[in-house]
Amino acid sequence: MSMVGKNVDALCTRCGLTLAHIVLYEVGGVIARVKCKTCGAEHKYRGAKVRDRKGETGGDRTRRTGTRAAEESRQAEAVETQRWLQRQNELGKNTPIRPYRMTDRYQRGEVIEHPTFGIGFVEKILEDQRMDVLFKGSLKRMVMSLPAK
Ligand SMILES: [Zn+2]
Repeated sequence: MSMVGKNVDALCTRCGLTLAHIVLYEVGGVIARVKCKTCGAEHKYRGAKVRDRKGETGGDRTRRTGTRAAEESRQAEAVETQRWLQRQNELGKNTPIRPYRMTDRYQRGEVIEHPTFGIGFVEKILEDQRMDVLFKGSLKRMVMSLPAK
């Protein structure tokens, strides 16, 4: 179940409090970045999931699991980078590239430019407010058509 575009409680480093945040994007089904609804600051999400995992496993097992997870994420990154490079090669000179704004609506197949991640390819639209975008090295589930305040 994707949380993109939904509210989540997270610690805001600017406010110094646990406050409601909007989930901006996910990587591999895990919340990666949030925006504080109080001060508007964007930051990485350090959520309950990490704490749960530490709590339930012992030392040795945690280390093995961690190594395998790191290896899998390296492989996934290599695959996504290959896919991205191929899409980049196929990109025509006249293909319009739209800047990414979380309040804009996008269509499958569009090319966007994100200020941090660069060129991205919209691969899938989910439930009107989310989309899967292939950036170099990772597929991110991004928020879109967020109501402007
Ligand atoms: Zn804040």
